[in-house]
Amino acid sequence: MINPLEKLCYYDERNPDHPDKTDYDYEFPEPRDNCACSNCFYGRDAMALEMIAQAEALRIADRLLGKTLKYLATSSGVGSNGLRAEVLKHLEATEGGE
Ligand SMILES: [Zn+2]
Repeated sequence: MINPLEKLCYYDERNPDHPDKTDYDYEFPEPRDNCACSNCFYGRDAMALEMIAQAEALRIADRLLGKTLKYLATSSGVGSNGLRAEVLKHLEATEGGE
């Protein structure tokens, strides 16, 4: 599986190959604008940035869904007791009810 972080700008600190994360004993400059590292030059960072943004959006949506389900499952007057209990059990099993 592709690790999108490896496709980020070589100078992006999230990139596992970032110079600061290696054993070099000298400091690298930190170009970002108009960077010509191979990831930026070939546009690989665009897809990586989009993948990271989408993963974050999914995490947020999942958290919101969990909170919404928990609210509905704990609100009396919404659904049946059996349904609420079933939703709560599911949330506990998936840790979606944080
Ligand atoms: Zn770059």
